[in-house]
Amino acid sequence: MPSQARYDYYEVLSVSRTAAADEIKSAYRKAALKWHPDRNPAQKEVAEEKFRQATEAYAVLSDEQKRAAYDRYGHAGVTASAGGFNSTIFEEFQDIFGDFFGFEDVFGRGAGGGRGRTRAQRGNDLRYDMRLSFEEAASGVTTKIRLPRQEFCEECNGTGAKKGTGVAACETCKGHGQLHYQQGFFAITRTCPACQGAGQVIREKCAECRGKGRVERARVLDVRIPPGVDSQTRVRVPGEGEPGINGGPPGDLYIVLETKDHPFFERRGADLYCTIPISVAQAALGAEILVPALNSDEKVAIPEGTQTGAIIRLKGKGLPDPHGGGKGDLYVHVRVMTPTKLTREQRRLLQELGGTMPAENRPAERNSSFFGKMKDIFG
Ligand SMILES: [Zn+2]
Ligand SMILES: [Zn+2]
Repeated sequence: MPSQARYDYYEVLSVSRTAAADEIKSAYRKAALKWHPDRNPAQKEVAEEKFRQATEAYAVLSDEQKRAAYDRYGHAGVTASAGGFNSTIFEEFQDIFGDFFGFEDVFGRGAGGGRGRTRAQRGNDLRYDMRLSFEEAASGVTTKIRLPRQEFCEECNGTGAKKGTGVAACETCKGHGQLHYQQGFFAITRTCPACQGAGQVIREKCAECRGKGRVERARVLDVRIPPGVDSQTRVRVPGEGEPGINGGPPGDLYIVLETKDHPFFERRGADLYCTIPISVAQAALGAEILVPALNSDEKVAIPEGTQTGAIIRLKGKGLPDPHGGGKGDLYVHVRVMTPTKLTREQRRLLQELGGTMPAENRPAERNSSFFGKMKDIFG
């Protein structure tokens, strides 16, 4: 019964021709509530007509393309939309429509709102947690992982139908993929919830995947972890997530790393830190010592007169940057060990030495203290 009388959509909603989208939306809400047939039992027919007009106006003005066509050509530009509204408007204003259309029942929303989409969707991303030793994190690894994930069912090619049974037209929508409802004075079009708009359903389910078209499989993947990764580093393996839906692209796999601590190296980003004890004699006279670095021992010259707490930087002996930059540095923190458990001979020699070295036991200046030094270096 759509009225053939042509009324101006802007006038129906009492908005100006330049009204913004949210203004039109709130104007429609106001009109729909005012002319809601349930609220106007005394003038049901007038209310229904006003309600229908407002809804038609909103269906056009809320759609950018339809609105532009209406602005240019008037009703001639949008005649096709009169009478049958896209159901998004009913979903958008469910609070208004729900009660008098029995919306839940008609559209099966209770069964899992948001169904009925046939558009392509990207597959889910997957996460895989991997633990690495300190050395593996430093040098990188190429390894195999076993990953359980959803994959297309090979038995039915992802269709979910038993081999040879094919598909049948959906009974709910008679193969159209859409349902048309005449609810009182409205005609509504909606994606068929039974077949999700495909128009066809499986006759007999594939036994392998029980009609889902996909099965869980443990897939073995070769993965390469770049050198220099740290705990919480996420390595992205593109396209190795779950398969897409309706032809959409697959998701990605993220390998989330956890690296074990090292017995003597501590890392900050790509830099490494370690503490090396030296003897009093080495500290006073200077020495060449071997510091275990990541891949080989490094010769380090301890200069004459090295104090405890001195820090020696070995440039480029830290970890590689996993993003392909340079390498970090290795900082060697020197600790001068005071000898304990002296032999009689050592004690005599030290006493003799001590006699030649008058001690000056004044407090050191603040900025030469340990903390001051640490601050200089670590900023
Ligand atoms: Zn199957
Ligand atoms: Zn259907």
